[in-house]
Amino acid sequence: KVRVRFPPSPTGSLHVGNVRSALFNWAFARHFGGTLVLRIEDTDLARNTPEGYASVIDSLRWLGLDWDEGPEVGGPYGPYLQSERFDTYAEVARTLHEAGKAYDCYCSQEEVDERREAARAENKTSGYDGHCRDLDAHQVADFVAAGRRPVLRFRMPDRPIVFQDLVRGEITFLPEHVPDFVLVRANGHPLYTLVNPVDDALMEITHVLRGEDLLSSTPRQIALYEALAELGIGRGAPRFGHLPIVMGEGNKRLSKRDRGSGLTEYIERGFLPEGILNYLALLGWGIAEDRDVFTMTEMAEAFDIRRVNPNPARFDYKKCEAINAAHLRALGVEDLTERMVPVLQRAGVLGDEVTPEQRALLAEATPLVHERMVTLGESVEMLGFLFVDEARFQRDPADAEKLLNDEGRAVVKAAHDALAALSVWDTPSIEEALRRALVEELGLKPRNAFGPVRVAVTGRRISPPLFESMELLGRERSLARLGSVQE
Ligand code: GLU
Repeated sequence: KVRVRFPPSPTGSLHVGNVRSALFNWAFARHFGGTLVLRIEDTDLARNTPEGYASVIDSLRWLGLDWDEGPEVGGPYGPYLQSERFDTYAEVARTLHEAGKAYDCYCSQEEVDERREAARAENKTSGYDGHCRDLDAHQVADFVAAGRRPVLRFRMPDRPIVFQDLVRGEITFLPEHVPDFVLVRANGHPLYTLVNPVDDALMEITHVLRGEDLLSSTPRQIALYEALAELGIGRGAPRFGHLPIVMGEGNKRLSKRDRGSGLTEYIERGFLPEGILNYLALLGWGIAEDRDVFTMTEMAEAFDIRRVNPNPARFDYKKCEAINAAHLRALGVEDLTERMVPVLQRAGVLGDEVTPEQRALLAEATPLVHERMVTLGESVEMLGFLFVDEARFQRDPADAEKLLNDEGRAVVKAAHDALAALSVWDTPSIEEALRRALVEELGLKPRNAFGPVRVAVTGRRISPPLFESMELLGRERSLARLGSVQE
């Protein structure tokens, strides 16, 4: 039975690299009808905040990546917050110590660093040198008398660690490259090196799919899983698959500073969850050579970790936008209307209570913007003019300066007079009246004719189609806005 995990540290907005890991684990679990465990790695009490926790939960909910065990949903292997598992870690540490799989190390950090430098100078492998591996009782007594407190260090086996990575094939680490490592600090605080594999073992995780940046910790973890299994804890190492590095600007790893690296940015810009997930799936995986756009259901069906490409994946914000736009176009009109509501509310275009009239107006306006948006956030600028209080209607100052000059105002006045005479207020009548008055009678090019009218009525040079927009805005409001330009 497949059991995978997503173990974020709740230190801030999820990084898209983490979201990709979550997605691949989700797809893997769903493909096999397995279990996705959400585990919160919050042992670093100074860096983890309740807001960080809430942001992880909200983000996963927003994305629609559901988990089968973990916080909020429970499960038989809990608690799923590492901050509630310190007793377990202390007990496992004691067991490892008693069995001789880990030992007390009294070296100070300075001493370790100094010896490492010396080894490096002699071109020897540098890392912890095993100094405290086999201390005798006298040496220990001396350290204790000197007031030193030990860290707990894992005793790496003296043999290569070899494993079959599900993405990269066979990987070998030689013992001289994987020195003994610290599991528990001198103050008793357990480290990631201990708690992450211990929980994988206790939660019976079968596969670990995670970023390649964690590859260097894998041999240590494998040795630890094996030591734990010998002591009756867990069943040995899970299978590993390391997902390709995500490259950002300048051929470097996508960093927190790069545009598009944090998930909240996408939520705020009004991306669709299915759009961003689809894009992130492409960072290492694809459904078919000739197809970039797919649903998460399709991904879960087709996902095969062995077909993930090990080569670095280039993050491409433009492509992410294009994929999102494709998902927007694929939405039904009603669905799109519903999804715009919270975005317009957040921007203050709609209030907390949306009236039936506003909802109906939005539904009518939806087809006008459907094909034009890359993100839902664009609906704020595109449709704001329909919902704003007449008293608070404002035009973009730059657009107004450019297009509502003397000539523009004359155009707007002619438009106003032609439309005021209309008896029927619908798109064809508005279009016909404006074309006659501005293009035929004044001899203007359509662009010069309709630009000023557009700015006068919608406040911006870029808007949904003009005649339809005026129909929706209504006769009275359209004429008032055209009239207000003269003053
Ligand atoms: N808490 C670790 C992280 O967020 C988990 C890494 C892992 O998947 O083992 O990076």
